[in-house]
Amino acid sequence: MRALQYHGRGDVRLNDVAEPEPRAGEVKIAVAATGICGSDIHEFRGGPIAIPMDADHPLTGEHAPVTLGHEYSGTVVAVGEGVTDIAVGRRVAVSAVLRCGVCPSCTDGNPQLCSTLGFHGLSGGGGGFALFDTVPAYTVFELPDGMSDEVGALIEPLATGVHAVARSGIGPGGTALVLGGGPIGLTTVVAALAAGAEQVVVSEPSAARAAAAAALGATTVLDPRETDVVAAVRDLTGGRGVDASFDAAAATGTFDTALGAVRARGTVVNVAVWEAPTPLQPNALLFTEAVITGALAYTPAEFTRAVEIARDGRFDLASMVTRTIALDEAVDGLASLAASPGDDIKVLVRPS
Ligand SMILES: [Zn+2]
Ligand SMILES: [Zn+2]
Repeated sequence: MRALQYHGRGDVRLNDVAEPEPRAGEVKIAVAATGICGSDIHEFRGGPIAIPMDADHPLTGEHAPVTLGHEYSGTVVAVGEGVTDIAVGRRVAVSAVLRCGVCPSCTDGNPQLCSTLGFHGLSGGGGGFALFDTVPAYTVFELPDGMSDEVGALIEPLATGVHAVARSGIGPGGTALVLGGGPIGLTTVVAALAAGAEQVVVSEPSAARAAAAAALGATTVLDPRETDVVAAVRDLTGGRGVDASFDAAAATGTFDTALGAVRARGTVVNVAVWEAPTPLQPNALLFTEAVITGALAYTPAEFTRAVEIARDGRFDLASMVTRTIALDEAVDGLASLAASPGDDIKVLVRPS
């Protein structure tokens, strides 16, 4: 079968690889739809970041070339020895978090902070840009009947939004600013609204992404090229500032805006991958006692919560999908997104 594999910066290829069979504890999946993620684009344009190039990853025993694709849905077609909690024929979404299960973070319930953390679809061991894939059974989450393959492929990025909101501590009645209306910014908007936030402001220069944010329920969408976002957020919150701001853009000035827009003792959550450092004036923390934190991936419980939010139907998640392409078109698709996303938000690849 063919699989989209990463060889190095600017070099992804459609290679012929052996069709995988499940080992003990693994599940084999016929892939239905796989999202091209910002992480894939960062690896292509600025990587390798998380991809093991020379040494094998400790959890997968593999290094580049590795198969990409970590946001996907599909159907279980075989299970390995010892797998009893998921049956052949079930439709599933796959969590990307690979963990050791025994280090302090794992035993504390934070496998996304595992000391030997890996990501399926980046760290070796297979990926979703292929007709078939095998994954550890613990990464597989059953989808409800009637949920489309497209929405199933959005569970993984939605879980990232759920985790970011959990890290911020906002809940019913809360206020938020989300910088960036790409897929992770948009799933953070959805997760904040699902958590009961009353006001979710988005700052996004692209008209297509701004419209997507409004369609998903953002209460105000600002164009940072035309509007002083910090001043506008102060106006919208009676001078107080938002409870939490989320940097899902990693663009020039976004981190300062995030910090300037939070209320006293508010929380700034970095949920973006940065390709370069950004300046920080620590005095901004002195006068607000704001908290800066990060949000990486999700816990298993948050992945389950993402399935619930998607099933609920309140949010038209499929509206994030702007294009669906074939595996044959994936090399060009990734390269063109890395050059410029244009009006695209989430592009899905259908391997079959
Ligand atoms: Zn991703
Ligand atoms: Zn661990």
